[in-house]
Amino acid sequence: MNAKLFVFVSHRNGKADDSAFELASAAKTMLPGSAATAIVCGSGVDAVATEAAQLFAEVWKFDQSALAYPNAELIRPLLLEVVPAGSVLLLAHDTFGFDLGPGLSVKLGAAYVPDVVGFDGLDGTALKVVRQEFAGQVSAHVNANVANGAVVTVRSGAFKPSEVSPGGQVIDKSDEAAGLTAKRTFIEVIEAEAGDIDITREDVLVSVGRGIGDKENIGLVEELTDAMGAAMSCSRPIVDAKWLDKGRQVGTSGKTVKPKVYLALGISGSFQHLGGLKGNPFLVAVNKNPKAPIFQVATVGIIADLLEFLPVLTEKVQKAK
Ligand SMILES: Cc1cc2nc3c(=O)[nH]c(=O)nc-3n(C[C@H](O)[C@H](O)[C@H](O)COP(=O)(O)OP(=O)(O)OC[C@H]3O[C@@H](n4cnc5c(N)ncnc54)[C@H](O)[C@@H]3O)c2cc1C
Repeated sequence: MNAKLFVFVSHRNGKADDSAFELASAAKTMLPGSAATAIVCGSGVDAVATEAAQLFAEVWKFDQSALAYPNAELIRPLLLEVVPAGSVLLLAHDTFGFDLGPGLSVKLGAAYVPDVVGFDGLDGTALKVVRQEFAGQVSAHVNANVANGAVVTVRSGAFKPSEVSPGGQVIDKSDEAAGLTAKRTFIEVIEAEAGDIDITREDVLVSVGRGIGDKENIGLVEELTDAMGAAMSCSRPIVDAKWLDKGRQVGTSGKTVKPKVYLALGISGSFQHLGGLKGNPFLVAVNKNPKAPIFQVATVGIIADLLEFLPVLTEKVQKAK
């Protein structure tokens, strides 16, 4: 396939999003040897474009005040204008990707290939992709016909972030984004409250999931976090049950965390949970089900019942201190 490969770079507060680093890896895995062009849209995005040039050989910068917020209604017609027919565009599988991707693929007459976690190569015009189904318990190997190009969304955390190396070239194409208008207007960004503890800043997180069974058992986790000097985070069912507050939730609808060590206790490893776990931490998973998907990504997997394992581990940590 000779199609041109593009990666849409999301950013916030003047910094490229983690997804840009993962998409750079995904692009290399998808079509080894072919250089992807990054697309950076926004207002005052010089720093982001320079950062993207450490990941991609070529960066197209579209700098216009109308693009200050990532509004798919503006970016869709822009991409239709600038992306050549038959191209493959990689986007993050996030709310912006959901907003932009499907309509863009229809307008381009290209395949829409969402929520990809792996690539198995290209066979003629068949792009072989891997997707997950049934909450990650089944891998589906899918052939996508990319003869007319494709819009591919890539799941957060599925690819290791690419290393940076300077040397990419930034091409200013801001003039091509002049005069864009939309019916939808962004009003403001409201940051979520940090809560009593800011888990996004912690190096060691002990994260508790539904496997803990009962609110009273959270005390066992507290004893471990006290012994370790770590902070406690959790999966969404723990917040839904009101056992811990929302500020402690890791995941796509919770916080994105970047600890050095992450201890996942009774957490199955849904993509919504793992989507909030960045920076490739040393991940220790404790689960009584040897087939739990978390074991596929864990650095160390421990098959054990939490209620038996936690008191023993806490005692060992206390003694070691
Ligand atoms: C739009 C949307 C957004 C979402 N956002 C998030 C999010 O931000 N964060 C998030 O976490 N989830 C989120 N979810 C929910 C997500 O899909 C999963 O349902 C959730 O992550 C599962 O949490 P869990 O792993 O704690 O529970 P489960 O999937 O129920 O897993 C519990 C695990 O504990 C193990 N276990 C049970 N008992 C024991 C025991 N005694 N000892 C050891 N192991 C035991 C089980 O084997 C199992 O693997 C979202 C879902 C949707 C639809």
